[in-house]
Amino acid sequence: MSRPPFAPFTADDVATVSAQLGRPARDVVGIAARCVCGAPTVVATAPRLADGTPFPTLYYMCHPGATAAISALEATQVMNEYTALLADDADLRSRYAAAHASFLADRAVLGEVPEIAGISSGGMPERVKCLHALAAHSLAAGPGVNPIGDLALARADWSPSRCVCIDYTETTPDA
Ligand SMILES: [Zn+2]
Repeated sequence: MSRPPFAPFTADDVATVSAQLGRPARDVVGIAARCVCGAPTVVATAPRLADGTPFPTLYYMCHPGATAAISALEATQVMNEYTALLADDADLRSRYAAAHASFLADRAVLGEVPEIAGISSGGMPERVKCLHALAAHSLAAGPGVNPIGDLALARADWSPSRCVCIDYTETTPDA
């Protein structure tokens, strides 16, 4: 897990992320989380892309195994369940709001972008819109920061501590 300022990363890391996503990874500023084997699981992207576009999603889940496992969760009623949990649990709401603030503080390290001020990711601070984004935040920040992301990871049939990576180089797109 890693938060800004990120450790240096390599061209191989970016090539792996591109292969994982099936498109060229752009404006990468760090690898925010990795599989136990070292392969990226969460890529960090600049808050303003090179073409000027504001980009709120600092932490993006790029690992196909993780993405599939979270998609499987989203296909169940789990987002409704977490939304109900938030409605019922003031402490959880407070921790989710703190996760939102923590996400924005991380991104601010990389620069202020007025167009996305106060906008984080995944539905924070009040809604549960994308478990991929919330779980990616949890993978980057570590346990105890994003309570909904933590719940999703705990339930997902995937873990960064058990490698299910494929040889991404065999599927590297022309970039
Ligand atoms: Zn792996």
